[in-house]
Amino acid sequence: MEEAIVLYPIPVISHFVTMVELGKFILTQHPSLSIHILITTSPYDAAGSISPYIASVPATISSIKFHNLPAVTLPPTLLSATPNHESLMFEVLKSTNPNVHQVLLSISQSYTIRALIMDFFCYYALSIASQFNIPGYYFYPSGTGSLTSFLYEPTINRTVDKSYKDLDTMINFPGVPPVHSSDMPKLVLDRNDLAYENVLASSSEAPKTAGIIVNTFEALEPRSLKAITDGLCIPNAPTPPVYCLGPLIGNYDQTGGGHGCLKWLNMQPKKSVVFLCFGSLGLFSKEQLKQIGDGLEKSGKRFLWVVRNPPCEEIQNLAASSREEPDLDSLLPEGFLDRTKGRGLVVKKWAPQMAVLTHESVGGFVTHCGWSSVLEAVCSGVPMIAWPLYAEQRINRILMVEEMKIAVWMHESESGLVSGREVEERVRELMESERGEQIRKRVMLLKDQAEAAMADGGSSRLALTKLLQSWNKNVDVSTMHQNQHHP
Ligand code: UDP
Repeated sequence: MEEAIVLYPIPVISHFVTMVELGKFILTQHPSLSIHILITTSPYDAAGSISPYIASVPATISSIKFHNLPAVTLPPTLLSATPNHESLMFEVLKSTNPNVHQVLLSISQSYTIRALIMDFFCYYALSIASQFNIPGYYFYPSGTGSLTSFLYEPTINRTVDKSYKDLDTMINFPGVPPVHSSDMPKLVLDRNDLAYENVLASSSEAPKTAGIIVNTFEALEPRSLKAITDGLCIPNAPTPPVYCLGPLIGNYDQTGGGHGCLKWLNMQPKKSVVFLCFGSLGLFSKEQLKQIGDGLEKSGKRFLWVVRNPPCEEIQNLAASSREEPDLDSLLPEGFLDRTKGRGLVVKKWAPQMAVLTHESVGGFVTHCGWSSVLEAVCSGVPMIAWPLYAEQRINRILMVEEMKIAVWMHESESGLVSGREVEERVRELMESERGEQIRKRVMLLKDQAEAAMADGGSSRLALTKLLQSWNKNVDVSTMHQNQHHP
């Protein structure tokens, strides 16, 4: 029978696209495999739709097949009681688990399934992997830096008796700079939150996985990788093998390469433009948009800025407002568009980020520190200003500034607002100071190292070989852990 790998991503565009890239990467070394990707319905709206991307994949790669799982409906009481979008996601995935079982059953009629690789959000499916007697892997689409805190959570839970939200202290996770308790992802701040319970459960199950696949490369995060593989993050159980298979970067330009902003960039001097873009869920209040506008105007620098409507209240419509065209005149400072005409361009809702970052006119990137954005900037050699908004992005900022030295820190006031003055100063610092230049050089070095990692004989390719070998040997999962310090 033909052999297959099943990939189970969450329906968030960055996680999903990265997982598909993982499938493509696996095929480069094992082209006869069939890759089956499960699609669940997203419980909330976000900018950047997965559908056009999905439509573009099988047309080029016939060995990748998508399976739509039946949509699940959450009870309205749960919807109204759920405090954040991560909890909603966990609930949907939990209810989806029987459907995952069904689809694996059906795939196994025609294929020998060699592995189930699931996003760490989908940990419920680990039990399905063991029912089918196949190795179950976690896919962690962020870096090893934040993975340390995820893996260390059961230890924190055991040894500290308060929620992060009630602490005001620095936390020492192995292999990374200290992280202030308030910089932890929102979903783990409160132990009474459903999302926290899920993260803890997912993390506690990690030792049972056959391995953790991480979207990073060794040269980017050597210290945290070593802390994990030395077993420091899971002190009381065996650490599964860690496979750094990145950078996995998807090209899902939904405009087919013809976006007007690229033509505008063609007319700008080399490395002169600051690009501002905040992931699939990044939304700002009207006041914050005005401050950004003020700062950009006063910086005197060229800019390309992706603007969306401010967020609406209901959690399921988290970014529904981002589907509607923003009314720039009412959102931006009065006269801003006229005064900055020529040196600045505002794009509504979505820009083809990778095409922008690789354009020679772009010299800096104000980012929300989403991991795909960080890797895309590194691979394009573009230095960053780190302005985290949600998920593990505040940890990423610490790593980007203090550990990787690829970004400057955007400072928020106590209320969370970033002033126009701060925007202006950080943009100038990145674009014209000695420090900005050093950061640029460092990012350029990492760009080369990222290419080397993915090239023949590179660390990510070697890690992939190890992963494939482990399937071929048909290793018993329990024996895989015994001498695992490095894949
Ligand atoms: N992205 C894009 N255009 C936009 C906003 C986002 O192409 O206007 C892409 C970006 O290139 C990246 C992904 O969406 O690949 C966002 O992933 P990331 O991990 O940075 O953030 P998330 O959306 O998961 O918070």
